[in-house]
Amino acid sequence: MEIDDVNAIAVLGAGSMGHGIAEVAALAGFEVRLRDIEPEFVQNGYEQIEWSLDKLVEQGQISESDAETTLERLSTHVDLTEAVEDVDVVIEAVPEKMEIKKDVYGDLAAAAPDETVFATNTSSLSITELADETDRPERFCGMHFFNPPIRMELVEVISGSQTSEETLDLVTDLAEAMGKTPVRVHKDSPGFIVNRVLTPLMNEAAWLVESGDATIAEVDSTTKYGLGLPMGSFELADHVGIDVGYHVLEYMHEILGDAYRPCPLLESKVEAGDLGKKTGAGFYDYESGDGAQVPSDEVRDDVADRLLAVLANEVAGLIEADVAGPEAIDTAVELGARWADGPARMLDERDLSELLDVLDERYEETGEERYEAVSYLRELVESGNSFYASEEVTDATGDDGYDYDAITVEVRERVGHVVLDRPHRMNTITETILEELPDAIERFEADEDVRAVLITGTGERAFSAGADIQAMAGGAGDVNRAADISRLGQEAYERLESSELPVVAGVDGYCLGGGMELAMAADLRIASERSEFGQPEHDLGLIPGWGGTARLQRIVGMGRAKEIIFTADRYDAETMADYGFVNEVVPNEEFDERAFEFARDLAAGPPIAHRYTKRAMHRSWDDFDAGLDVEAQSFGLLFDTEDLMAGMTAYMGDSEPEFEGK
Ligand code: NAD
Repeated sequence: MEIDDVNAIAVLGAGSMGHGIAEVAALAGFEVRLRDIEPEFVQNGYEQIEWSLDKLVEQGQISESDAETTLERLSTHVDLTEAVEDVDVVIEAVPEKMEIKKDVYGDLAAAAPDETVFATNTSSLSITELADETDRPERFCGMHFFNPPIRMELVEVISGSQTSEETLDLVTDLAEAMGKTPVRVHKDSPGFIVNRVLTPLMNEAAWLVESGDATIAEVDSTTKYGLGLPMGSFELADHVGIDVGYHVLEYMHEILGDAYRPCPLLESKVEAGDLGKKTGAGFYDYESGDGAQVPSDEVRDDVADRLLAVLANEVAGLIEADVAGPEAIDTAVELGARWADGPARMLDERDLSELLDVLDERYEETGEERYEAVSYLRELVESGNSFYASEEVTDATGDDGYDYDAITVEVRERVGHVVLDRPHRMNTITETILEELPDAIERFEADEDVRAVLITGTGERAFSAGADIQAMAGGAGDVNRAADISRLGQEAYERLESSELPVVAGVDGYCLGGGMELAMAADLRIASERSEFGQPEHDLGLIPGWGGTARLQRIVGMGRAKEIIFTADRYDAETMADYGFVNEVVPNEEFDERAFEFARDLAAGPPIAHRYTKRAMHRSWDDFDAGLDVEAQSFGLLFDTEDLMAGMTAYMGDSEPEFEGK
């Protein structure tokens, strides 16, 4: 089954998660059957969806009629057979108890059509064990949404030991169709990614206090203001519920061993029923006290090192066990826990060998298994690699790492310069370019010599005249292939837009259709006077298919974007500068030099600030509050960088700063 075959989805359990998942699925256009065990439970879930849709209308995120049609797609059920008899996918969100879930899957396997795919929203239980309760372990996987599903972008898609690739592809596509960002978790390992990173950190925070090595205030101050995480460790535990983390930890302890033994401090809170905010008290007092007040001035470097050492071990463990790679780990934690920077990237900015020393020393001193360094971390340190750099080495295809067919790449004066290299075809975009471009971006990001990216065309008068549509879509009529090509281009350009490096499109000549959409995914655009822009798709009875409908309006506003797309006219560089699309227009003969200079100036800027600004701005497009969160955290993190010192010193001394990206 492919995503286009999915029409109806059943969601089992109409509680906190189930109703949210049902809402997201119905909003995305699927027929949704929401099922719970009692009429009032399922009705309650339905009412919460109504309430939430009203909120979205109030906030202007959807129209009244969107809300109405969404509700029309939803039906409520108590009878299991009725709920699942004709559905393509079942998403299960019943209570986190193995016995309950096993009962549900026993009944479900009998009631659902043979080809229906089952996905469980479990946070911690074994996917493989649940799958074994069904008649279809290959069509079973984890689909772990975050709370609340309507707002949280991350979905962990987890493979059980027998899950087929087809099922994983389908559920990944389904998460995307619901507007989420899926991250693949290759192995059914306790805690998956986000909880596996967060809970040992919470545990270590508790051990620091339990052993008398630090106070709660010091640990939280260090986590929040020293490491720049969104909340203090104890503040977070109280926020989520101490029992929630504790149970995940207990489960990890059972499966993965003593390294995850829960700290008695957590246990005592759970036993006393002081579970955090929801019970009025946890590590902080929310009823008679002021709640979590985290001081900003009790940061301790030794506490930071200890937390980071445990974090490094966890990230290395996940990679070593092939649960996920550094990029997936980072995306998951950034979206699932709202960290400004994912843990692998954060650790790559530290000295891994120092963190390994911390682990080794503590292990020798205490014999505690949680300090026993995993071999992969030791290997990284011994080979002088970081999490990302080592990925790069193993992934590199060519000797210099930049060996491509349809683009050429040069690194000079800290600018990674990509040239679209199909001069005989006006640099039209092919599938090869769409594959090579994101790869080059990835390599630039791992290359310490690259601080900014410049993309230009080669040959006579073309940046890119668009997609090589015939070669790619195989002629009219091949609907699926055309949709796939659209997705491929969208993903490639998305990778470019989300790059941590500033990207400049240098346009000299035609910049049309898919070529113009490429320029939209850059951060800034510089153009020669003779350049011509346009989205000619409507003339062909098509629409822009590589993000143009979404991105152009963000740059030039909805009105201009519609004008450009509807008229399918050509626009000169000056007009596009007036529209705000082109940042600078330069005389034709000066183009090459000026475009390079433009990128080189950006490359001299502060790398960390570039990265954070991009991230905060992009995040706020989807979610204003999340964007502000990223902004505030980044602002805090920058205060701890050498770049800030370099910038300040240069500012005072009226000289040019030398930013190191540290
Ligand atoms: P919840 O208790 O709010 O909701 C569970 C619902 O399932 C209840 O309404 C209950 O009546 C219903 N139910 C019980 N047996 C059922 C059955 N046989 N068929 C259909 N419905 C049944 O729980 P929740 O917080 O929504 O959690 C659901 C799942 O999602 C759990 O596996 C949990 O681990 C996971 N999860 C929870 C969160 C979270 O933050 N709450 C986040 C991610 C994942």
